[in-house]
Amino acid sequence: MEDGSWLSTLDGEAAARQAAGLRRELRPRDAGDDVIDLAGNDYLGLSRHPEVLAAAARALADYGLGATGSRLVRGSTGVHQALEDGLARLLGAQTALVYSSGYLANLGAIRALVRPGTLVVSDAHNHASIVDGCRLACAGRAAREGAGTVVAPHADPGAVRALLAAQPDRPAVVVTESVFSVDGDLAPLAELHAACRAHPGGALLLVDDAHALGVIGPGGAGGVAAAGLAGRPDVIVTATLSKSLGAAGGVVAGPRQLRRHLVDTGRTFIYDTALPPVVAAGALAALDLLAAGDDRRAELAARAALAVARLRAEGLEVSDPDGGVISVAAPSADEAFAWAAACRDRGVAVGCFRPPSTPDGRSRLRLTVNVGVPPAAFEHALDIVVKERP
Ligand code: PMP
Repeated sequence: MEDGSWLSTLDGEAAARQAAGLRRELRPRDAGDDVIDLAGNDYLGLSRHPEVLAAAARALADYGLGATGSRLVRGSTGVHQALEDGLARLLGAQTALVYSSGYLANLGAIRALVRPGTLVVSDAHNHASIVDGCRLACAGRAAREGAGTVVAPHADPGAVRALLAAQPDRPAVVVTESVFSVDGDLAPLAELHAACRAHPGGALLLVDDAHALGVIGPGGAGGVAAAGLAGRPDVIVTATLSKSLGAAGGVVAGPRQLRRHLVDTGRTFIYDTALPPVVAAGALAALDLLAAGDDRRAELAARAALAVARLRAEGLEVSDPDGGVISVAAPSADEAFAWAAACRDRGVAVGCFRPPSTPDGRSRLRLTVNVGVPPAAFEHALDIVVKERP
């Protein structure tokens, strides 16, 4: 391949993506720009909260910029421990283990739960990190030993029951998000848990609470807590610290035996440099603010309802949000891209989701509620979304 033909191959593929309206653009944002953010996941506006910034600044001075090593080498600090204790308490779990990202937390958790012969049942709308976790966990030796994944129709506990019933003797893991990242709807967690309990081969429920942590549930404890499933030994929770906590990092929460197993054997935990203490400290400060965040959560829910009503009144096809994610259907990938670009030119950042980031092949704008955006600016941004529709 010294002749560079592989580069021509990549150019050809890029041109095909461009022609299909699927090219992706990096748009660096400037510090302090006045763009109205309906695209980020900083739902409660905590990424810039003074207490969060002060805690991070203290940790920066105390520990320096990076963790300097993996958790098992030099990367664990008292801040990591306090963060894990706080997350376990909030999620009502026996233990929590922090990762450097939610992506790695999902890979690690799924791999830990899949055993020889395990049937993984994964919701059709699950995030890429779950999809990759299922692929990784069921590849190679695991596949030879009988592990495999089936994709279940979205948010359909009856279908999950049927998939489990077809293989009654196999141990199973049912994997779902709570608030889904693309359409913002809430999974039927109680029904999924009941399906797991009814499975003769034994089934665990793994829930990615990424978009629910801090947003729904008592004190912002997330979707699992809201469904009354916190602390069950057969329910495992993953989440990212990068959304309502405004930081970065991921977490796996569950029984102490799972944490022990992950520390001893989890590759995405062991071989990855630890979350920087400065980020862990900011996340911990944000976590402390969650309990007192009922006003912010109420404001978020009110704004989501307002956005849905406003957009539907204009005849747009809008999802039914259970958290801070609202999706608005676009006629095509090209038009979604052009719509998002036009909003951006008018000072409003919106998410533009096209295949393969959409589970059903349909493109949409993805709007998120950030209660740090002033109410008038939020309403103005909705007006722009409406005005710029294709
Ligand atoms: N799960 C879901 C549902 C997500 O939306 C995301 C973030 N896009 C992740 C996991 C990954 O988290 P992180 O960005 O911390 O890697």
